[in-house]
Amino acid sequence: MIVVLRPDATQAQVDHILEKASQLGLKPHISRGVQKTIIGFIGPEDVLRVTPLDIFPGVEQVIPVLSPYKLVSREFKSENSIINLSGDIQLGAQRIIVMAGPCSIESYDRLRSIAQQVKSAGATVLRGGAFKPRTSPYDFQGLGEEGLKYMKAIGEEFGLLTITEVMDPRDVELVSRYVDILQIGARNMQNYTLLNEVGQSSKVVMLKRGLSATIKEWLMSAEYILSNGNFNVMLCERGIRTYETATRNTLDINAVGVVKEKSHLPVIVDPSHSTGRWGLVRPAARASVAAGCDGLIVEVHDAPEEAYSDGSQSLLPENFEGLMAEVRTIATAIGREV
Ligand code: PEP
Ligand code: MN
Repeated sequence: MIVVLRPDATQAQVDHILEKASQLGLKPHISRGVQKTIIGFIGPEDVLRVTPLDIFPGVEQVIPVLSPYKLVSREFKSENSIINLSGDIQLGAQRIIVMAGPCSIESYDRLRSIAQQVKSAGATVLRGGAFKPRTSPYDFQGLGEEGLKYMKAIGEEFGLLTITEVMDPRDVELVSRYVDILQIGARNMQNYTLLNEVGQSSKVVMLKRGLSATIKEWLMSAEYILSNGNFNVMLCERGIRTYETATRNTLDINAVGVVKEKSHLPVIVDPSHSTGRWGLVRPAARASVAAGCDGLIVEVHDAPEEAYSDGSQSLLPENFEGLMAEVRTIATAIGREV
C-alpha cells in the first residue's frame, strides 16, 4: 500500500508511522517527490483492517496498490525516475542516452578503436560483453576479467561510462569493480538469485526483457531488484520471440509505451538484438526514439565480418554516426535531445 503524507507532516509523525508499520511486519520505502512524500509499504495488506494507517497524524491518504509489482509501479511513484549515471549525466530526463560498442570485448586494440569512434559520434556509454551467454558452449564465451580491465581503462581514457553483462551472482562484486552499469541479459531475466544480488548492490542495473517474457513478468523481475533496495534500474526492450522468422526477434515497440504507463522506470531499446540485421537497426532506433524511449543500446564493430559474436547485427562506425544524426532529429521533434 502507499501512504501519502500531508505536506505539513512532521518528522516525529513520520517516525511514528514507520515504527508502527514495522511492528506490523511492513517494509517501508520512502519516496520524496517534488509535490508529495509517499511511503510505500510492502507486506500483508490485511493488517490495515486492524490498524488503519489513515488515522495516523501526518497521513493524507492510504492507497492500496493493485498491480502485482509495487515499487516499480506508477501508483507507487507518479513521476518518472531519473537515474544519476555520473555527476552530470542523467538517464530518464530530457536527454536520450546512447550506449554503443561491440557485442563482445575481443581485444584491447579493437575495443579501443571502437570506443574512440562511438565516442566521437556522440555515445555516452561504452558497451561490451566480457561474460557472454552463448547458445552454444563451443562459441566464444568472452574474455572474463581481462576484458573488464580493458573496458575500465578504455572507458576512462575516452570519458565513456561503461556497461557489461553479469551472468553469475558470484561475479557481481567483481564486475562492479570495473564498470558503471550492470547488465542483466535476456536469458537471466528470471534468475532470481542474480536479481537479488544486484538488488543489494548500489550499481545502476539494466534489466533486459526475457526472450519470451510478458511485460508483467519483466516488471516483476524488476520488482526483485527494487525490493532489495536498489532503485537504480532501467528496463531494456530487446525484442521478443514470435512466429516471425524474417528477423532475429520482434521489436515490441508497444512495450515502450506500456512500460511508461505502468512504471516510473526509464526504458531503453536495443535495436540490434531486436532485429538481428544491421540494415534494420537504424529504422528500429528511429522508431524507438519516436516511441519515447530514454536510451538506446547499439552494437557497433569496425569489422563486423570478423566479429566474435553478433557481427550480422553490428553497425559500422560510419553507420552508427548516421544513426546518431537521425535520432537527434527525431529527438528534437518530440522535445528531447540526444
Ligand atoms: C547482449 O547485449 O550482447 C546480449 C547478449 O543481449 P540479450 O541478453 O538481449 O540477448
Ligand atoms: Mn550481442
